[in-house]
Amino acid sequence: MSENKLPSPSSWPALMQCGQYESSPFESNDASIGTEMHRYCLEFKMPELFGEPNDKPFVSMVKDVGDEQIEACDTICQKLYDECIESGEAFSEARYELEVKGPDYRGRLDFLYMPILADFKSGLDFRPHLHYHRPQLSGYAAVIMEDNCMEKMLCAEVFIMPGKLNLYWITLDEAKAIAESVRQKHGVTPPQCCQHCTMCAKLLRCPAVNRQIKMVGELFQDLKAPENIMSPDKITDPKEMSVALTFVKNVLKGYAKKMTDPDSKSGIKERVEAAALLMSEKETIPYYIRKVTASKRKVVDVSGAIDAFEKSGLQKKDLFPALSFTLDPLKRIVQKCLGIKTLKESEQLAKGILDPFMDNPEPRISMEFNDEQ
Ligand code: SF4
Repeated sequence: MSENKLPSPSSWPALMQCGQYESSPFESNDASIGTEMHRYCLEFKMPELFGEPNDKPFVSMVKDVGDEQIEACDTICQKLYDECIESGEAFSEARYELEVKGPDYRGRLDFLYMPILADFKSGLDFRPHLHYHRPQLSGYAAVIMEDNCMEKMLCAEVFIMPGKLNLYWITLDEAKAIAESVRQKHGVTPPQCCQHCTMCAKLLRCPAVNRQIKMVGELFQDLKAPENIMSPDKITDPKEMSVALTFVKNVLKGYAKKMTDPDSKSGIKERVEAAALLMSEKETIPYYIRKVTASKRKVVDVSGAIDAFEKSGLQKKDLFPALSFTLDPLKRIVQKCLGIKTLKESEQLAKGILDPFMDNPEPRISMEFNDEQ
């Protein structure tokens, strides 16, 4: 056995992001409700579905869990059971919470019904981009496949609250490659801030996090985020609203603009494009999928299109609800065709012509930053 032991596969998704991650023993209130839901599924509901005798005290198992959560547990267990019947091996035995012993790590697998292995998550804080558990399930799968001379297994990530069953096959080679990648990173690669930091035991003394905090502090030392920044509907004091708007405008909006502005000189756009290209060449980037969206087409020959519609039996008036004018291009056309000198003059003329044909929507009230004050 190797001297350098790896943590349990439950830490592997974090270790793939940051080789210095260390799981925190801290358990939140949500986690204790999650633990009860977990127990209910694995000690009560799944055995019940498989027709096993059950003498576990149901009530003490779910003292903090509400009806909605029990219903979610029942629904997702039924989904997993159906999958076992459909894809599992006939006469396989359902096994719960079994110890998995790898060459240099150990872990606890929630559920096994050959060739399906499943890990249950409460999903109380379900945010799809934060849930990437393939490395964890690979850690269990690698051991089970080696022990049973198997080539592939069906992994099931069971998210109880949102009722999602994430299923995927994994081969022995893939699972071993992930284990090897974790081995190479664990304790070796420098700390890398990621979404697992808040769960990391090293958070308060981590040099990477402290460096980031210092940088943000230096950049925005004059700005203090108001307490209710995440719940603006709770802000009733105009002064507090002013501080909140200033913070959002200067910090968040500026940052978002830099990230997304196609003319930005920051080079971020190029990096995003390079990442998207990498993905097209079969590299996967955790938490992202490559999405190709068709560019919108527009009608360039409006009169030709109207003629074509009329020929197909539609009348011009039937088409009007689909047509729209906006003032901006119109004032330029008016300026060009009527030879008007200034854009302002042509805008007034265009507005005058259009006025009887326009609606009068209710005015919208918004806040605009006044930098002349
Ligand atoms: S707190 Fe530091 S060590 Fe922990 S995951 Fe974040 S960057 Fe890595």
